[in-house]
Amino acid sequence: MVSAALHAECGEALRLRDGHGRALTDLRLSVTDRCNYRCVYCRTGNEGAQFTELPIATYARILRIFVSLGIEKIRLTGGEPLLREGLLDLIRETAEMRPAFSDAPLDIAMTTNGHLLAPMARKLKAAGLTRITVSMDAVDPETFTRITRVPGSFERVRDGIRAAQDAGLGPVKVNCVLLRGFNDSQIEAFAEFSRNENVIVRFIECMPLEEDRTWSPATVVPMKEILARLNAVRPVVALPANHLSETARRFTFDDGVGEIGIIAPVSEAFCGHCSRVRVTSDGKLRTCLFSQSDHDLAGHMLRGAKDVEMESRIRDIVQHKEARHHIGEPGFLKPSRSMVHIGG
Ligand code: SAM
Repeated sequence: MVSAALHAECGEALRLRDGHGRALTDLRLSVTDRCNYRCVYCRTGNEGAQFTELPIATYARILRIFVSLGIEKIRLTGGEPLLREGLLDLIRETAEMRPAFSDAPLDIAMTTNGHLLAPMARKLKAAGLTRITVSMDAVDPETFTRITRVPGSFERVRDGIRAAQDAGLGPVKVNCVLLRGFNDSQIEAFAEFSRNENVIVRFIECMPLEEDRTWSPATVVPMKEILARLNAVRPVVALPANHLSETARRFTFDDGVGEIGIIAPVSEAFCGHCSRVRVTSDGKLRTCLFSQSDHDLAGHMLRGAKDVEMESRIRDIVQHKEARHHIGEPGFLKPSRSMVHIGG
């Protein structure tokens, strides 16, 4: 009989690792590239785009293969995942998968714009979703509409957040992408929102991943400035990281009420501990948000590749995962696909 220690040792050796020795435990899967918002820093706002979705069974097979390789956290994203028919079935099926090298249950999270969340929250929880992140770029309704280009969106999203908290999906994380001159006036109001609604607000520096050309270094609101502004609301206290590959630096206030995360991929890149890979809605493996090319998994599956062949292909591809991104450096090349196609 194999001892527990030997099993653990073999497991570590078999885990999916990139060419830099980093264990890959975190997969983001885009289940659609359709979206009901046209956020100004993400989409062109033009109608008539072509969309690509795969059958739910194909996404489920991709997830199963990755879980067998050592993925422990799955984040469903898009496009807007709540638009995807069959999403609850996919979550149910995923919740039955067991991580290959850990006794802990699989962590199944989702990132959504929250527009359709209120009536769905309990069903998502019952299907097996463990955590939810809602994107919300302003707490002032007018500013929010200017960003999403959908009237009445703020109230819908706020109600979605409250429904998710009530359904037991809390504490909900609320992601806010900050753009200088557009919503940076909202920093103090978000501090109050975190304290009043008991949610974790996370400010994210805008990255060059838009369909239009809106990004420049000047649009980024750096972490130092966000912290200085929060400190003026109340003294800010740093919280310890939950784990090494955590992307957010965590803070609370001196009375312990509210939690703010700052994700600074541009001004303080955290690539060194990256444990993530992504699969796009058309079934392509992307090893970094800023990769210049993707690797077709769905095509191979369609041509009859068996699971063992897919596993070995994935192991080969991740050997070449980028060490880090080069945003802001001379010669940086923006990826040809935007965030909405890659899956945030
Ligand atoms: N529709 C879902 C949503 O709104 O959360 C999921 C997909 S969306 C592309 C995922 C996340 O990426 C959102 O929080 C969005 O704000 C963020 N995002 C989009 N473009 C970005 C950019 N250029 N820089 C940083 N974050 C971005």
